[in-house]
Amino acid sequence: MLEIKKELTQNPKKKPAKGDKLGFGNIYTDHMLIIDWTEGKGWHDARIVPYAPLSIDPAAMVLHYAMESFEGLKAYRTADGSVQLFRPEKNAARMINTNKRMCLPYLEVEDFVQAVKEIVKVEKDWVPSDEGTSLYIRPFVFADEPHLGVRTATSHKFIIICSPVGAYYESGLDPVKIYVEDEYVRATPGGTGFTKCGGNYAGSLAGQVKAHDLGYEQVLWLDGVERKYVEEVGSMNCFFKIDGTIYTAPCVGTVLPGVTRMSCIELLKKWGYKVSEDRLAITDLIQAYKDGKLEEVFGTGTAAVISPVGELRYEDEVCKINDGKIGEVTQKLYDTITGIQWGKLPDDMNWITKI
Ligand SMILES: *Cc1c(COP(=O)(O)O)cnc(C)c1O
Repeated sequence: MLEIKKELTQNPKKKPAKGDKLGFGNIYTDHMLIIDWTEGKGWHDARIVPYAPLSIDPAAMVLHYAMESFEGLKAYRTADGSVQLFRPEKNAARMINTNKRMCLPYLEVEDFVQAVKEIVKVEKDWVPSDEGTSLYIRPFVFADEPHLGVRTATSHKFIIICSPVGAYYESGLDPVKIYVEDEYVRATPGGTGFTKCGGNYAGSLAGQVKAHDLGYEQVLWLDGVERKYVEEVGSMNCFFKIDGTIYTAPCVGTVLPGVTRMSCIELLKKWGYKVSEDRLAITDLIQAYKDGKLEEVFGTGTAAVISPVGELRYEDEVCKINDGKIGEVTQKLYDTITGIQWGKLPDDMNWITKI
């Protein structure tokens, strides 16, 4: 159990009004939660304080060596006005795995979930209520020790900030166009691909820019060794329905183990679909398309929940999937997961934590 001190703001900001366009990551709430970690002492001084810029030493190790990790989850407002979280203990467990790999200190699962609940409780009125909106919660850890030698740090901070975010889709599920990247790679075995560490995202931007320049919205990464097997998309895991079977890349160190991915697999298995986590070669995927067997492609992640893929390009091959329309399984997963998240469907998977 953390003991969290609270210092509430004297100058609350104006909250967005009903109907305002929120976008993603544009607005921050009135408070943030901070916990310090120092060597020998561990975590201490947990506090909720007014949201404000941090004062940080220019020699802080995070600024030089990217000693940082983060998580992302949401709080949802239900029809009766209450607020709830979706599987926060899975984010907590994932941050432990990330931070072990990155030599960063981590909070135990119960403490992480408690911290998330406490900040959301304080910011409850910031959880928006328009259809499809939510409060995005961003926990992160970084090395703030001023030091220029490369080694593990003796001082870190854990912080949570919150941002009210808009509906990802303004008018129905909008299929995305995806470019299969065959030059840059995102992750290799033994590396940090399974972690949410800032460096992974910095390194992915060149591929993202290239895809944009070619008229595509996102990159589908191939494995970093052979550039042969499909892995994942930008900040989403990727699923392919081929001849009735649903494929997604295995979590063997190079793919981010998404909470949405895990939830989709659990639902698909419950519904009786065949799910394969065997590696899938891009050439087999293209062949399945040519044979008319590539039925659906979709990405999964907390931000979009489910994102149908309408077009895939690999080298000079362009695949138009399901006539650019949303597939049946894609739609069913979207309806079920969002239904549970916003409390419109019963939580029969036991995924919800009430605030
Ligand atoms: C966060 C993330 C995902 C999706 O994970 P969720 O827990 O479902 O939000 C997938 N891929 C990458 C690279 C990510 O950073």
